[in-house]
Amino acid sequence: MRAMVLDAPGSPLRAADLPEPVAGPGEVLVRVAACGVCRTDLHVVDGELPRPKLPLVVGHQIVGEVVGDGRGVGIPWLGWTDGECRYCRAGLENLCERAQFTGYDRDGGYAEYAVADERYCFALPSGFSAVEAAPLLCAGLIGYRALSLAGDAARVGLYGFGASAHIVAQVARHQGRRVFGFTRDGDDEGQEFARSLGAEWAGGSSQVPPEEFDAAIIFAPVGALVPLALRAVRKAGVVVCAGIHMSDIPSFPYELLWGERVLRSVANLTRLDGEELLALAPEIPIRTEVEAFALEDANDALDRMRSGRIRGAAVLRTTAAAAGT
Ligand SMILES: [Zn+2]
Ligand SMILES: [Zn+2]
Repeated sequence: MRAMVLDAPGSPLRAADLPEPVAGPGEVLVRVAACGVCRTDLHVVDGELPRPKLPLVVGHQIVGEVVGDGRGVGIPWLGWTDGECRYCRAGLENLCERAQFTGYDRDGGYAEYAVADERYCFALPSGFSAVEAAPLLCAGLIGYRALSLAGDAARVGLYGFGASAHIVAQVARHQGRRVFGFTRDGDDEGQEFARSLGAEWAGGSSQVPPEEFDAAIIFAPVGALVPLALRAVRKAGVVVCAGIHMSDIPSFPYELLWGERVLRSVANLTRLDGEELLALAPEIPIRTEVEAFALEDANDALDRMRSGRIRGAAVLRTTAAAAGT
């Protein structure tokens, strides 16, 4: 099968011809139709995450059909958990001590076929093409979990208006929240995009927002945004860091945290997060804005994301040969 393979962090993906993977007990073989490109993929490729399997097929927003019965499924980042550690037993399988992640510990979806533990696959929402559904599987899920951790915040600031924020803004508006969007300074197009998705105000990250927020979610991997976001939330407000990697957070006066403000991260997803968001997606309905690339153009998609030149979400479109050929 055709696949884009990471041989070593810091090097571009290599177009390769790999043997079709074989499903083990409890696993499904999925013919990939589309795979979303996540910022986490970029962190893996750039060597910012410590221990990827190598060589590795990256990609964890996989939409495809189960070979054999043709069922449409989505394969997310959470690929396997032990079900028995203290976190799993507490309903926090996202923090499982022995979790395996798709496109990191296990081969992912930048390929014609992928294998997944069936228990961690999701049924797909109706009304979405494969390319449109792919960004829901991580950008959407992590964003949804981050928004849940913001509690009942009525005014929410979103820092970094990429794949996640463009979905979360729609969920937040649907829940009756008010949304404020931040982009890189001077990104007028990004700010217009944020407003088109329901942000009542959008500006550059160094701009002072028009009013204080009840919560802020930081999607951009930029530690310098943390003090800015803390400054923007009210007393007892929450700042959620939604990325798996962030540059160092600069020191800041304690006064910014004082007043019972909370600073926290969000890590991975639970299957419940996925079930909730995928049920909500057609109801809202969420409209994903996608730039599609051919599988072989994965490096181009990653480059564009690295330099912030993707509007909405990047997705690789895969056209596989029929199974068994
Ligand atoms: Zn566990
Ligand atoms: Zn992701």
